[in-house]
Amino acid sequence: MEHVFPTYAQYPMEIVSGHDWHLVDSHHKSYLDFTSGIGVCSFGYSNDWIEQSVINQLGKVWHTSNLYPSSLQDEVAASLCPAGMLAFFCNSGTEANEAAFKLARKATGKGKVLAFNNGFHGRTYGSMSLTGNPDIQTGFKPLVPEVSFADYNDPQALDAINEGLAAVILEVIQGEGGVVNGNGEWLQKVAAKCHDQGVLLIIDEVQTGIGRTGMKFAFQHYDLDPDIITCAKALGNGLPIGAMLGKKELAKAFGPGSHGTTFGGNKIALASAKAVLEQLTPKFLAEVQEKSQAVFAAIHKQISPLTVVDSVSGLGLMIGIHLSAAVKVEDVIGQLQENGLLTLSAKHNTLRLLPPLVMSEADLLAGIDQIAAVLAKVAAVTESQSV
Ligand SMILES: *Cc1c(COP(=O)(O)O)cnc(C)c1O
Repeated sequence: MEHVFPTYAQYPMEIVSGHDWHLVDSHHKSYLDFTSGIGVCSFGYSNDWIEQSVINQLGKVWHTSNLYPSSLQDEVAASLCPAGMLAFFCNSGTEANEAAFKLARKATGKGKVLAFNNGFHGRTYGSMSLTGNPDIQTGFKPLVPEVSFADYNDPQALDAINEGLAAVILEVIQGEGGVVNGNGEWLQKVAAKCHDQGVLLIIDEVQTGIGRTGMKFAFQHYDLDPDIITCAKALGNGLPIGAMLGKKELAKAFGPGSHGTTFGGNKIALASAKAVLEQLTPKFLAEVQEKSQAVFAAIHKQISPLTVVDSVSGLGLMIGIHLSAAVKVEDVIGQLQENGLLTLSAKHNTLRLLPPLVMSEADLLAGIDQIAAVLAKVAAVTESQSV
């Protein structure tokens, strides 16, 4: 691309169409998709229910300002929010985290926030300042002040939680940071200490939410009680929408004029989110969990034993395959692309899999077969080189 800033390292092919969980490039090559566009298109690329909802809204009105009430916003908020919470709609994950950061400071009257090393919360100043990854922050200082970091899953992090903090922000599984599962007991201790000290707990569900882990939100696996939840990625199945959900008691701090966005709550994006949430039923989530069990069983059998694989992590259909230093994840991704399978990476040489949640078990297992075959081939090459 000649006319666009080169902010992204890009693969060579352009995707021009898609259906279900398959994508097609400009040379008519088709791919099995294990990316969902980074956890976005969980309901695939030709979901009739979503398409009809969006088309229906396109024929009415696309946008009204937030100066007028929207029953569509209220309806989506009602189905998205856990009991006792309200929603603020925006357009992305980073905006949802900005809203959470602002609300936490305003509601508590305190400035300090604790975040975690290797966490990821977005690229705008507030969210970037909460992102514990020097690669993302370098060159952009000064950052938003009064943010400190602790190690994820580290018992000592509990000592850093005290009444001086406005909030603690974390992911239940660190996504970009390498698909690092939060330890359930540790997460519960963090949540308990936050509540004990009057510190708001912000759970960033931008990647883990909307069914990705087999629950609507990943925190539900561990019975956590967040004060604020942020979501985005899969919420619109590809149309830009984010949301910050917060406990009703916080509404006093977010009264008229306190925060806003022109496009947040846009009717087209909301029509898509409505149709996404209508399909996110208990039955659908149970199917995701069943498929996940089959996928993890296949991974443990075919992939974990390989010499180039250090460990496997994840939950639901959010999966990390941690490769040894002997191989580069980008080489593996390139070989899989040649074979017609799209995958992602994450920090620490992790092969990250985020297939559409609607993918059939047969195609999920076919993808795992392909990954096992490529990793076995790579392992054979590295072994022959080391002899
Ligand atoms: C992707 C992501 C974000 C940022 O979302 P954008 O829509 O890219 O701004 C924030 N938090 C987490 C956990 C993410 O995975």
